Order: sequence, then C-alpha cells, then structure tokens
Amino acid sequence: MLYQSTRDKNMLVKSAQAIKLGISPDGGLFVPQDKPKLSHDVFEKFSTMSYNARAIEVLKMFLTDFTLDEIKECVDQAYNKEKFETENIAPVYKLNDKIYFLELWHGPTCAFKDMALQILPHLLTKSIIKTGEDKEVVILVATSGDTGKAALEGFKDVKGTRIVVFYPENGVSEIQKLQMITQEGSNVGVAAVDGNFDDAQNGVKMIFTDNEYQALLEKNHFSLSSANSINWGRLVPQIIYYFSAYADLVKNEEIKLGEKINIVVPTGNFGNILAAYYAKEMGLPVNKLICASNENNVLTEFINKGVYDRKRNFKTTISPSMDILISSNLERLLFDITGNDDARVRQYMQELNEKGKYEVHDVTKEKISALFWAGYCNDEATSSAIKEIESEYSYVVDTHTAVGKNVYDQYVEATGDKTKTIIVSTASPFKFNHSVLTAFVDEEELKDKNEFELLDLLAVKSGQRIPKSLAQLKDKEKLHNIKCKKEEMKEVVNDILRLIKE
Ligand SMILES: *Cc1c(COP(=O)(O)O)cnc(C)c1O
Repeated sequence: MLYQSTRDKNMLVKSAQAIKLGISPDGGLFVPQDKPKLSHDVFEKFSTMSYNARAIEVLKMFLTDFTLDEIKECVDQAYNKEKFETENIAPVYKLNDKIYFLELWHGPTCAFKDMALQILPHLLTKSIIKTGEDKEVVILVATSGDTGKAALEGFKDVKGTRIVVFYPENGVSEIQKLQMITQEGSNVGVAAVDGNFDDAQNGVKMIFTDNEYQALLEKNHFSLSSANSINWGRLVPQIIYYFSAYADLVKNEEIKLGEKINIVVPTGNFGNILAAYYAKEMGLPVNKLICASNENNVLTEFINKGVYDRKRNFKTTISPSMDILISSNLERLLFDITGNDDARVRQYMQELNEKGKYEVHDVTKEKISALFWAGYCNDEATSSAIKEIESEYSYVVDTHTAVGKNVYDQYVEATGDKTKTIIVSTASPFKFNHSVLTAFVDEEELKDKNEFELLDLLAVKSGQRIPKSLAQLKDKEKLHNIKCKKEEMKEVVNDILRLIKE
C-alpha cells in the first residue's frame, strides 16, 4: 500500500517514508491510497484475540512494507504489562444498557496519547532503517501538557533516538509539570520556556524551518523529526482500539455481530475521531460519529455549517487538551470526502492560512453531516456531567470525557437515537484531579490540599485506584531544571545534544 499527500496526490511514498517524514514536503499530510476492508467474520475472529493480536491484524494491512515480525515487535514493545496497568490495554467500561466508556488511559502517562506514542518510536526507528537513514533522530516537541509527557515516555531509552520537550513554564498543570521534570531516560531533555504554549510552539517551528541549523545538525549526525499527531505513525495505532472495542462488545454479548454503534469522541486536533472515521470506512458498523468540543467550538460550527473559521478568541477551559483552534487532521477528512481532490484541499488550506477561514461546497457539507454529528459544551456543563455520572453510577470521569458525555446527551435529546454508544474516555480523572473534584466535592474539602493529597482524596471519593505512575511522582527526583527564554531554545537544544559547531 502506498501513501499520498493531501496536497499532491501524485506524491506517493511507502509507509516507512511517510512515518519518517511526518509531513509531506508540500505541506500536506500522508493518507493511505486506499482503505483496506474488513468483513464481519474478522470481527468475530477478533473477539477471541488479545489486544496485541488485534493490533497486528490492523497494522499489517496498512504497513505493507513492514514484515510481520517487525510489526509484532513494535506491538509487543508498546502494549505490555510494564507499560499498561491493565491486561486489556483498552478496556470497555459498561455504564448502562446504552453507554460504554472506552478507557484509553491505562498507559504510563494516563491519557489516550499513550496509545499512539508508545508504539510510534518503534515504528519510527524501523522506518528510519528501512529508508536508509543512518543518523540519530532528534524528536522536538512543544507541549501544552499531555503530548510532551507521552512522547518522553514513548521515546525514553529507544535506541537511535533523542527527544527534547519544551513546555510553557506557567501553562501546564502541577501534575503535568511534575511528570515532565522527573522524566528518566538517557536520551531525554526537558526545558521550561518563559512564555505560553504558542511561544514554545513557535520556537520549535523556527528550529524546524531553520536550514542553517538543520545543516549543523546533519553535520553532527542528527536528523530532526516530529512526534506531532499529523504523523501517520500516530494515527494508524488509533484505528486499532475502535475495532477492539467493537469486538469486546460482541464478545460480551452487548451487541450482535454487524449491529451498528455510535462513537463519541472528545476532540481537539481531530486525530482520534479521524481514526474512528477510518475504522468506519474499513467496515466497522458505525451509525454516527459524534464530535464533542469544549467552548473552542470551531469544529462544531464546521460540521454543522461547513464553515471553518479560526478567527475567534482562544478560550482556556478545564478540558485543556481540547483547547485548540486549528484541527490539523481535518485536512485528511477533506481530502477523503472530496474524492481525493488535492487542488481543492490546497485551496482550503491556503484560505485558512491567509484569511483564517474557508467554506466547503454543499455536496461536501452533506457528506459530512451524514457521517458526523457535532456539539459542544462549556465548563459548567462539563462539571455537571462529572457530577451526574458520579451520583448516578459512582463512576468518575475526567473533564474531557465529561464533554463527550454532555454532547452525547445533547445528541440523544435532538435525535431520540437509541443506538448503543461508545464514548471515548481520553484521560484518567486523576490527571485532572482538581477540576474533577471541584465538580462533586465541597470547595472546603479541597482547600490547601497539595497535588498528592488531592489524588488521595479523589481515590477515596471515587473508589477508583490512583494510577501507579501518578502516585510514584511523589518520590521521584526532579531531574530537569532548565529554564529558557523563547529566543534561547536553539541554544538549549545545542547543549542537550552537545553539538560541535566549529
Ligand atoms: C489530545 C487529547 C484530546 C484530543 O484528541 P485529538 O486527537 O487531538 O482530537 C482529548 N482528550 C485528551 C485527554 C487529550 O490528551
């Protein structure tokens, strides 16, 4: 199978090249030239398989230039008992007869990004060898919290790679900061940037586009790469768990083979829900894909009206991993839905860049609204959703998942649809302990408590176990104390890599 760029469909590469490059030289994203189709007996077969066996079945259809052994190696290094706190890797939690939460946060950093970032480093190192690259790969990441830690954990001690993560000094939660400054591993670097996420992001972008600097890196035998969610190697592992969840529902006799389900995805960069769309296109019986946003509701408007308009105020919410105004992976959907019309995708992206806005054609609008339903909610409604689920079911969800539940309720209200539904649970409630507790515990009880006291309190109130990796943070040594101004980021990379300049 070959991959093509969304901005030039004649730009064709193998999967190893797509994963190594991350983004196409023309600025487009790589997509598979065709989508493999799965029949219903495959789902039946899946229901008796482990997560890893299901993963191998899905990946081998897309990574046709990898051997079966290579894929198996990647899968086993990513999804195992040392990394995940549950044997099922991505278990389905039944809330009631209609609603199931797909828990994607049992990995080392307690958010769903582990599902892809645990395997990407292994796919990438194999891709590098396949494409004949002999330099060490340097992964540069700017993070608003979840991605940085997940990338650090994924790349930690992976041979042939180095990783440097920049986070905004005052833009991440206490837990997120602790997770990053205590990061172990011989090939990792972490630095705080004096500024906000945009400053960190722009600094990283400047390094990526600095040709002189690239040359210096090359001379030192390094090549730059990105672990950003536009990389195909991050998207393809996300397709697996939709098939896996469906197989589990069949196995537990919650649904009949072939029965359609809805999938609700709390969405930011449109990566996770796009993976669900691919699964549907491959034959997963899906009724509606429901796109849930917080008050940064640019996607709600796009799906409902066909107008993408990023000219709006950025809002800081209690579901920060969805605070985003440019959902990069939407480009892949546009390409697919317009019948691979690369010229049109180029035009939309140019308009977005120059005018901050584009509008799709009517036919495209209709196709999108046949597939997707979209809604959003504010922080207050997010809190209410946490409180309602807690009081009715004694189950506690995080803020992002709560947005999903609220939007699902809106969907049922609007449509009366009774189809069984999977709501994707994207983070452990412990990762956002303060916002979660505030939703259903008296303010008084939270006063003056530090992060670890909050974790303990949430464990008591929820009856759920504190994830090991968060509990252990208390005793971890703080290993990274670099702070820099945004103009100094290149120097920091130099120091961490010990570049020889001459
Ligand atoms: C990244 C993230 C999201 C958004 O996922 P996208 O693939 O960017 O749409 C939602 N919830 C959590 C907890 C996340 O970390």
